[in-house]
Amino acid sequence: MALQDTYDVIVIGSGPGGLAAAIAARQNGAGRVLVVERDVEPGGILLQCIHNGFGVEVFKQDLPGPSYAQRFIHQAREVGVEMLLDTMVLDVRPDKRVTAASKARGLFDLQAKTVVLAMGCRERTRAQIRLPGTRPVGVITAGTAQRWVNVEGYMPGRRFVILGSGDIGMIMARRLTYEGAKVERVLEVMPYLTGLTRNYVQCLLDNDIPLQLQHTVSRIIGKDRVEAVETVQVDEKWQPVPGTEERIPCDTLLMSVCLIPENERSRLAGVQLDPITGGPVVDNHFQTCVPGIFSAGNVVHVYDLVDWVTEAGWVAGKAAAQQARGEIKPDDQTISIKAGGNVRYAVPHRLRLSSLAEGEVRLQMRVTRPIEAPVWVEVHSGDRLVTRKGEPYARPGEMVTVTLKPKDYVAMRSGEAVSIAIVPR
Ligand SMILES: Cc1cc2nc3c(=O)[nH]c(=O)nc-3n(C[C@H](O)[C@H](O)[C@H](O)COP(=O)(O)OP(=O)(O)OC[C@H]3O[C@@H](n4cnc5c(N)ncnc54)[C@H](O)[C@@H]3O)c2cc1C
Repeated sequence: MALQDTYDVIVIGSGPGGLAAAIAARQNGAGRVLVVERDVEPGGILLQCIHNGFGVEVFKQDLPGPSYAQRFIHQAREVGVEMLLDTMVLDVRPDKRVTAASKARGLFDLQAKTVVLAMGCRERTRAQIRLPGTRPVGVITAGTAQRWVNVEGYMPGRRFVILGSGDIGMIMARRLTYEGAKVERVLEVMPYLTGLTRNYVQCLLDNDIPLQLQHTVSRIIGKDRVEAVETVQVDEKWQPVPGTEERIPCDTLLMSVCLIPENERSRLAGVQLDPITGGPVVDNHFQTCVPGIFSAGNVVHVYDLVDWVTEAGWVAGKAAAQQARGEIKPDDQTISIKAGGNVRYAVPHRLRLSSLAEGEVRLQMRVTRPIEAPVWVEVHSGDRLVTRKGEPYARPGEMVTVTLKPKDYVAMRSGEAVSIAIVPR
């Protein structure tokens, strides 16, 4: 089919968030839906995540990443989603004009009625955390190593130290061990794990890979290639504890030190960003502060389960289709959601009153500090308890969710913020 330049919905990014949004847009009556992807094939980061653990919520099946992605790629084709691959989106404007570039077409513009931003996230590098030492070969992010090993078929080294206990680092610790490498240890500057407990158990404990909390790399050593790293224990203010320095011989340092939502294009579009998540401020449709620009997936905040990314894509895609038909009226009646006690942030940031009767809204949050005892996740409107949910514990590495049902909205009032707190039970 020849590509024309006008669409109902343009989705930027073909990861699970973008594909779900595009499918939902078509299923909810959008005429022409286009996914623009800079890679040569659709699927996003899942294509390099060959381990299983994907789809337990959505499919009740434990799938490897590429299989999970493939189901949505098939479905997108079946429902008539158009795809423009090997094409980089350079600019998105508030009037929903999208500028893109590709080898095949050069620089060109596309026009949409609504846009869904689904560009995912990227990893922090050595420069961003200012790691001292020499600058030899052998310092790479865990995601780069994942791509080299799982897609390109290269081993980046034989003897590793991993900085950061995020999920990608722990998953790569196991993967590299399976490929015959020695992972000396995983270091975490915080006093607790920053990834999922299931990854700690399955990736580190099961493979006898030590985790050292409150430790970091103080120096990288090596002329041409990494020869060792110097590690040090830190106090609660991340200050080195004198006398705890240790030299660990290795040839590669993997960095797994935080993911950053990819929001350079969102900023150009005038989208307001949350300084804590690094992603757009959104309502319960995942609509940003720019009418007609929606966002979904890791570009909003970093999820721990891909199933929730898919769910966010469905919500954003459906709303983008409705908005393209003019069915979502400008509505300034919103309720703000505030992070209360022990909540670092909560998404969405506001609820649109007119749409609350339509169904449930899932609130997602991260805690500030771990509580290793039963907790309540409480939602208050003023001094009224709207709803609460029990959890066995609360950990920063594991997203907490609570669902608002239509009956809960009775206790909420326009103009009065809703606050969420996580308190001991
Ligand atoms: C390096 C890395 C490794 C990961 N490994 C794991 C793992 O092992 N297990 C796990 O559970 N989760 C992993 N994740 C988390 C994973 O990202 C999410 O679970 C899920 O893939 C997020 O889906 P998404 O659609 O939001 O983003 P993504 O899957 O990242 O998709 C975003 C897509 O947008 C495209 N894009 C970005 N900018 C542009 C642009 N300007 N123009 C056109 N296209 C663009 C990208 O090429 C990409 O295909 C990893 C994340 C990263 C960053």
